[in-house]
Amino acid sequence: MLIGFDIGGTKIEVCVLDENGASYFKKRAATPDSYSLFLDTISELVIDAETMVNYSFAHVGLGLPGTISPATGLMKNANCTFINGHDLLSDLSAKLNKQVYIANDANCFALSEAIDGAGQKGRLVFGAILGTGCGGGIVFNKTLWEGPNALGGEWGHNPLPNFSPVKDGEARSCYCGKYNCIEQFISGTGLEKTYSAYTQASLSAPDIIEAMRSNDTTALAVYKTLIDQMARSFAAVINMMDPDVIVIGGGLSNVEEICTDLPNQIEQYIFGNELKTNIKIAEYGDSSGIRGAAQLAKSFIQVNI
Ligand SMILES: [Zn+2]
Repeated sequence: MLIGFDIGGTKIEVCVLDENGASYFKKRAATPDSYSLFLDTISELVIDAETMVNYSFAHVGLGLPGTISPATGLMKNANCTFINGHDLLSDLSAKLNKQVYIANDANCFALSEAIDGAGQKGRLVFGAILGTGCGGGIVFNKTLWEGPNALGGEWGHNPLPNFSPVKDGEARSCYCGKYNCIEQFISGTGLEKTYSAYTQASLSAPDIIEAMRSNDTTALAVYKTLIDQMARSFAAVINMMDPDVIVIGGGLSNVEEICTDLPNQIEQYIFGNELKTNIKIAEYGDSSGIRGAAQLAKSFIQVNI
């Protein structure tokens, strides 16, 4: 059995998966506001889970927006800011007396989909979450590839390929300090920014999609721009690493039209113009992150073998 945590800004969720990936146990708790209470909450949830399923876990996986700094071993960029600057891996391992694995939520998403989700038939899987932001993860032979800088899959902060003011509007600054990051275009917020650039009005991403489905001319043009920006971004991934499967999750993955419109558009941007890559929508939706956190142990155990 595997146990995983999804660490959110307002809630912490735990889940237990059996060896076939079936979900056995789930529980939520409010995210506390201090580091020591955070460690206590995780510990209590592990005990709850162990009691409920009558099993003692050797490994615990955590998925969260944030990373362990390869330079210092300390957490950085976590949404629960009280975690930042702490050696969470060591502190939690000592508290639980178990092996702990930590990965960012996009990597957990990619791992889950590669192990038993939409990418399970692929050797090399690229997972992309297109939600408020744009995260990514790389999984090779069911094993997460984080890399020496812990940057594997962070393609959302590459510049949008072939950026053109005519196609894409004015340059967009990103919170990371760079300009025209992919995340600024192919995310829910990116779509809203494109709509504003076209109309000088604001509309939410779901409303833009609704307007597109009602054949609103402006919304259709904005949607076509989104598909074109996605195609340029994914073509760069394919030209670089040629994954067997690209799995798309997050809010934008609920737009069914993307599945049919995107592959045709990608084809014109990849080298050679012939696309065989499987472009799929996530099988586990919002649950992929926590499933992948539980499966982190599996990924690392495979590496050790
Ligand atoms: Zn950026």
